[in-house]
Amino acid sequence: MRAVDIIQKKRDGAALNVPEIEFFVAGATESSWPDYQVSALLMAIVLRGMTPEETAWLTDAMVRSGTRLDLSSVSGVKVDKHSTGGVGDKTSLVLAPLAAACGARVPMMSGRGLGHTGGTLDKLESIPGFSVRLSPDQIRASLRDIGCALFGQTSEIAPADRKLYALRDVTGTVESIPLISASIMSKKLSEGIDALVLDVKTGSGAFMKSEADSRRLAQSLVDIGNRAGVRTEAFVTTMDTPLGRAVGNAVEVAECIETLKGHGPADLEELSVMLAARLLVVGGLAAEEDDAIRRVRHALDSGAGVELFRRVVERQGGDPRAIDDHSRLPKASSREVIDAPRDGYLQKLDAECVGRASVALGAGRNRVDEGVDPGAGIIVRAKPGERVHRGQALLELLHSHSPNLETARGLAEASIEIGDEPPAIRSLVLERIAASFSSLTS
Ligand code: URA
Repeated sequence: MRAVDIIQKKRDGAALNVPEIEFFVAGATESSWPDYQVSALLMAIVLRGMTPEETAWLTDAMVRSGTRLDLSSVSGVKVDKHSTGGVGDKTSLVLAPLAAACGARVPMMSGRGLGHTGGTLDKLESIPGFSVRLSPDQIRASLRDIGCALFGQTSEIAPADRKLYALRDVTGTVESIPLISASIMSKKLSEGIDALVLDVKTGSGAFMKSEADSRRLAQSLVDIGNRAGVRTEAFVTTMDTPLGRAVGNAVEVAECIETLKGHGPADLEELSVMLAARLLVVGGLAAEEDDAIRRVRHALDSGAGVELFRRVVERQGGDPRAIDDHSRLPKASSREVIDAPRDGYLQKLDAECVGRASVALGAGRNRVDEGVDPGAGIIVRAKPGERVHRGQALLELLHSHSPNLETARGLAEASIEIGDEPPAIRSLVLERIAASFSSLTS
């Protein structure tokens, strides 16, 4: 088999077979294919696409490029949630303890923030002492003892994805539903889980801007998961404006803790409770959504969720006193307020602009090797639909002498749109995508 023949085959629009896909993934992982041939095939895939079968085979080959987390010795149903990323999207830290408090085992492997979207690992690491580096033995022990482990990807998990993603990032080949699907699902299927719920964001702050593309991605992810024997469903949810009121790292952790204590913003609580409940249903731990919601709400109202989060923090080396005393979390040294320029209704608080402003303040990164300022971020003081008055604080920029403060201020101002009429606001949850017939029968 020759790489050039496979590239030409895809360039001409034909479907690749299993040996060809396996040859490609092995060639990329072991560097026996030069980067220019890997990149050429990636571009051909972007332009010509892949069938659902090819996408599933690609995912499978990427999973087998590394090792799967072996959770067979952990009893109980293992579930996870994955979000395609957004601004202020912090549901993981709320729903993982809630689902675990309801009896699920939640091995949650997360990533770091990149570009305008945040990452769960950066948020967790803002808790003093918290370690996201867990060995497989530590993950298994945490799942057995407390039902939840929050950790980063190890180098053994789907190494093909790391290689392919690095090349896609610099060759204009990220935007492809088959490549995105295989990238996400190769990592999720390596976790050894029984059930998965995906939150596919759509809108300005999302990776996928259009609802149609988000729906196609959601269906592709659901098909791959179910074909691989992991019960999977997805939701398409809006990301036009930041979720909750905090954007950053420590500020988001504080907001999650408050949400677990029942004092969180309504949108964050609604989405976290819904996704946690679906994890129970899809995982077979609850027969009906109503029952699942009742149990998740009880975990929230009784404090069982926040107590479980406290145990995760303690177990992973974090300072549990931060749960009740947020002054123990890192703080920015300076604060700048962006006011409403006129009276009216807040029409829009553009998620992407707010996310980019937060990155400029130091809360996120543009390159994978950059660090983040855990105390930096943005507090949203008004949400779209609210009536606002000239001079009213809309956004608070938190930073510690960021050199990019001017850029952040410009982006924050650009995120705001005020008009005379109340705006039309899309609902938070747009659609549920369950397994299609073909994925269940194959
Ligand atoms: N997230 C991933 O993990 N992979 C992609 O390709 C895109 C988003």
